[in-house]
Order: sequence, then C-alpha cells, then structure tokens
Amino acid sequence: MLRRLVRFNTVNPPGNERDAIEYLAAYLGDAGFETEVLAAEEKRPNLVADLRGAGDGPTLCYLGHVDTVLADPSDWTHDPWSGDVADGFLWGRGALDMKSQVAAEAVGAATLARSGWRPGTGHLKLVFVSDEETGGEVGAQWLTATHPGRVRCDMLINEGAGESFEWEGQRRYGVCCGEKGIFRFTLTAHGMAGHASLPKTGDNALLKLAPVLERLAAARPSFELTEAPEALLRGLGVDPSDPVAAIERIAGIDPLLPIVVEPMLGVTLAPTMVRASEKVNVIPAHAELKIDCRVPPGLGEEAARRRAEEVLGDQAENVTLSFTETVAGNQSPVQTPLMEAIARWVARNDEGAETVPVILPGFSDSKWFREAFPDCVAYGFFPHRYTSLHEVAPLVHNADERIDVRDLGFATACYADLARELLG
Ligand SMILES: [Zn+2]
Repeated sequence: MLRRLVRFNTVNPPGNERDAIEYLAAYLGDAGFETEVLAAEEKRPNLVADLRGAGDGPTLCYLGHVDTVLADPSDWTHDPWSGDVADGFLWGRGALDMKSQVAAEAVGAATLARSGWRPGTGHLKLVFVSDEETGGEVGAQWLTATHPGRVRCDMLINEGAGESFEWEGQRRYGVCCGEKGIFRFTLTAHGMAGHASLPKTGDNALLKLAPVLERLAAARPSFELTEAPEALLRGLGVDPSDPVAAIERIAGIDPLLPIVVEPMLGVTLAPTMVRASEKVNVIPAHAELKIDCRVPPGLGEEAARRRAEEVLGDQAENVTLSFTETVAGNQSPVQTPLMEAIARWVARNDEGAETVPVILPGFSDSKWFREAFPDCVAYGFFPHRYTSLHEVAPLVHNADERIDVRDLGFATACYADLARELLG
C-alpha cells in the first residue's frame, strides 16, 4: 500500500489528493468500513471511515495526511514517486511524512476488519485528510470545524513521534503529547535618516541592532518546564529540577539528543530576518529584526516577552517589540489509558524498551482535534524499531526520504494491536 500511495503525486501545493483518498476509501470499504468522502474543494477531499462496535464505548481515531512537501528528483537516488524498494528501504516522498503511517493505519485496521473483528465496545475511526503541509484549511481544520460530529473522538493517534533512540543499552520511544506555540515578533530600532556619504548627518538605526544580535547570540538557554518535558526528563532518569545538569548528563550519553530535547524545555528565540534602509545611500531611520520564537504548550505571549527581556537585558530599551504572529501551543495529558496502552505495547514488542513523552517544536493536525474536542487525548506515535531517531529525523522533508520496511510492518502491527486492546 505504501508503494501505491507514494506513486500518487500529492505535493502540496497544489495537493491533488483526490486519487489517493479515493483509493483508500475503496480499500477500507472493501474491508468492511463505512466510508464517507467529504470535500471543501473538489480535488482535495478527506476520508472518514468507521468500524462500529456494539456498545457505546470510546472512539479511537487513527489520523493521517496524504499530502507531502515537494521533491526535486535530481537530488534523489531513487525517483521520489517511484516507491522503489531497495536495500531494505521503501523510498519516496511521504515514506516517512506520512504516507507510511497512513498505510500502516489502513492496513492494520483493515486486517482486523477482514478477520471479522469488530469493536466489542466503542468504535474505530480512520480519518485521512488532505492539506496538512500548508495548514489544513481544506483538511483537518475544515473537517473538525464543519463536520465535528463525523470526526469527534476520545483518543487520537497522529504523526509527531515514535522514533526510538538508544538510552543506556535500551530503546526509548517518544510519544508526542503536545506542540509548541509560535510567537513571532519584530524588534525595531529607531534612529534618524541621513545621507550615507555624510554618516554623522543621521542616526543609524541598523547599528543599534548589533548589540541586540550579540545578546541573542550569547544567550544561554532558560528553562520553563511543562508537564510532558518534565516527564521526559524523569523518563530518562535525570532530575527535572536542575535542567542545566540534566542536559549535560543527556549530552554525556547521547551528544545529539540535546539538539532536540533542549528546545522542549523552554522558550526558544531564533533571529532569522533583518531589514533596514530601502536604499544603499540612505542611513536607515528604522531597522527591523524578525525573531522566530517558540513557546512550550501551556505558556503564551507573556513567556515570549519575558524571555526576550531576559536575553536583551538593558538592550531591551533600545528597541520596540511587536508580535506579528501568535499561535498558542496545544497538549494532551501525559498519564492516560492511551499512553498506558502504548507503553504496554512497546514493552511487549521490544524487550526492555519504554516510552517517553515528547513535544514537537511546530504543529500538526493534532492541534485541530485538540481545539475542537477538548477532552480528546491526542498523541503522535509511529514506532520505529529498526532505525533510530538520528537516522529518521534528517530524512523528513529531505531528499532520499525512505523507511525501513521492517518498521512499516512493526507500526502496522502496533495499530492493529492497539485497536484490539483499547476497544475490546
Ligand atoms: Zn506530516
């Protein structure tokens, strides 16, 4: 199925997800699911497929998006829409993000349905959407806003984590419990225009950004631990009350891990764009520096402002701060029956392995479900047993995206087993 899905070119924009969605609808319909295709845009539909049980227990939903980011075939070893299987990997755009999970969810659920299994209590739902990579306007955002009754669920499994890493001789699998908020802002320095041939005729605003940039470059991380990152540190056996020592100890065991762990523990600031005079011979009266700021779920604009003031120190007086884009983070609780079921499955299928909660620095379609259904517990989980986080993560949105075919089978079994365990 993954080979077939990769061969549908669903690069978004423009997406053109209809053929992939109709293929999945036919496949799940044949297996015994009730299917409904719902579209905000004719060429970009979404699929809701249901397998109902006798009782009125909880609804478990498997979510996936079928669109992908673009790919340039000249950068790839195998054509990005070939679905080639070589060297134990299935190659192609979407092989990780996230046609693999769509295929594993569909095949895992269809295998159960074909065997005659039906939920004893509760209800199994599969939702496959268009348009995640550019924000979900005709995908999950639209579906949860306009058809909440069709996609309401109590437990949701989506993308976001599941890669494993070695930790003192055993594997740890991340389960994504939340997503950071985005609080982008502009720092503006003010001066006075003048002619560049006589530099002292003006007051150059651009020069006032230099010490500001120096402060940003020299900033030490500061930590504001929320529920999931705190549980992550405890899961790694380090003390959450001393994050600096915790990060040092993690680096001692796996030097690459702090790159992804440290941003989960607090507000990050990354200066990315600068703009001053429109003309090379005019001294700028204003200079702007744009900062991409990410805030842990549960914290908001105040945390972003606090962090900016902390980093800038007395330089804060020389610039004005204005937010340009604010999206609050979102999260689900860490201790739930769904987490316990995932942890049990991992322990049964990979001896000595454990799950740890993680949060994403950006956001996925889980955001729309958490917003629409505040009681829904949503996690990101696609278990990779045979390739590590450090091998998988760099391939996402990159050339030569590929998945170890053993991991595809591992995840497919996981989705079948979890449905059986949680829905009876
Ligand atoms: Zn994705």
